Amino acid sequence: MLQARFHADASCRVCSGSLFDRRRVLGAAAAAGVAALAWRPRRASAAGGQYEAMVLACIDPRMQEPVHDYLERRRLIGQFSQFTIAGAAVGVVAPRFAAWHQAFWDNLAVSIELHRINRVIAIDHRDCGAASLAYGIASVGTAAAETEMHRAVLAEFRREVAARHPQLGVETGLMALDGSIIMFG
Ligand SMILES: [Zn+2]
Repeated sequence: MLQARFHADASCRVCSGSLFDRRRVLGAAAAAGVAALAWRPRRASAAGGQYEAMVLACIDPRMQEPVHDYLERRRLIGQFSQFTIAGAAVGVVAPRFAAWHQAFWDNLAVSIELHRINRVIAIDHRDCGAASLAYGIASVGTAAAETEMHRAVLAEFRREVAARHPQLGVETGLMALDGSIIMFG
């Protein structure tokens, strides 16, 4: 059985390492010419649990640091599941990316079930290539037009989350490349 073969339980003699003499195992490996055997008792861990949020962000490499810093300021590091897709909320609602939408909703449902999250935090960003692909270059021609386009996208995102998971909180924001963020909704 899968559970029997792949588990990690501190009370289990195999997982906790008490079944084997670790030094003997490592010594035998060294004698056999194995340079590095990183064998160690596996820590007990659980794939599920209670976490704060799922964070939806864009794949744009420039956003990794500002998004991380923002979540760090909010003390959410290690407390969220993450879904990263071109355009963030744009990738979840834009007709241009229709083939992607279900993957997000399925992942959100899994995170609700496994991580018992309370909310989803969608972080769109300025100068987003996926947004201009989805809605045309004019939609991001001025900062005001860009703001309005993301305001509409994120409103649609909130409606769709509410329709599927009315119990879930939703936060939606538009982040600039410098990490400053305006929230909608
Ligand atoms: Zn982007």
